Amino acid sequence: MLDRSMNYIIGDRAISLDGNSQQVCYVSHAHSDHSSAIRSKGKQVIASDETIALCGKDVERTAVPNITLARSGHIFGSTQLIAKEDGGVFVYTGDFKLEDGLTTKGAEIPKSDFLLIEGTFGSPEMVFPKREEIWEDIAKWTKEKLETGIVIFGTYSVGKSQEIISILNKYAGVTPFTHEKVSQISHVYKQFGVNLDFISLGKDSKEAPKGNFAAVVPQNLLTNGLVSGLESAYGKRVYTALATGWALKGWGFADRVFPLSDHADFEDIITYVEQSGARRIFCCHGNERVLARALKERGFDAMPVRELEHKFPQLTLLDSTLDK
Ligand SMILES: [Zn+2]
Repeated sequence: MLDRSMNYIIGDRAISLDGNSQQVCYVSHAHSDHSSAIRSKGKQVIASDETIALCGKDVERTAVPNITLARSGHIFGSTQLIAKEDGGVFVYTGDFKLEDGLTTKGAEIPKSDFLLIEGTFGSPEMVFPKREEIWEDIAKWTKEKLETGIVIFGTYSVGKSQEIISILNKYAGVTPFTHEKVSQISHVYKQFGVNLDFISLGKDSKEAPKGNFAAVVPQNLLTNGLVSGLESAYGKRVYTALATGWALKGWGFADRVFPLSDHADFEDIITYVEQSGARRIFCCHGNERVLARALKERGFDAMPVRELEHKFPQLTLLDSTLDK
């Protein structure tokens, strides 16, 4: 049983899926918009070891009978939730991608009857180039710009930064400098055995950037002020880059915006849905109406999760009184 606020009920337990409205919360991955339960007090959390380590907080773990996790391929440690009930199998994908990245393997596609799937890029025009081509593009562009200046990537600290470090290492032979927020997360990846070469900037910095160098910083720090400050400090041109699936929509102010996403594109969402065998599909996380419509046009029984209470009034809508 699922409600429009993404509370899932199995047996006598209510589980908040990537939220924090129940006592028991499932956290699919460490991005802040999915992991509030780990930062909330007194929650019992279902999550992978990697996700909890990336969030850097002590938290009470719990296991719920008939619930297992599978890899979702979005970022390191990201998972999907699989719940086996008498009425069928329910799967929640969390954020996912099917293609292998350099720091995480692509998603598994568990068989399901009821599927709650993310639709971040769930509209038909959102189809990404092959990942390997983007890696090569990033490496080529970086090497070319490093001949005459400094290259700064602005990316999410968790997930995308480590992917960029790995691309620079493996495809460009470059060891980037990293902002301390990026370094902190990258060290957790290393603790779990992911090979990343980077030089931390900040307090514990062993080396100062000199010559022409590449750096990876949190996206919100990549400002005109940073660029002009670096240009006057080093007397060199600074080239900026972003990596996001929204590049396909022309989003992002930088010298280059690469369409490198940690989400499935539209075609991979359709592939996932087909291979899952799900007979009823609920769409969540943005673009849910567009995705539900596109799935219906392809013959699937799909709806945005936020319409649940209107379509299924027989479902008990949970409120916070249930976990008191
Ligand atoms: Zn995410």
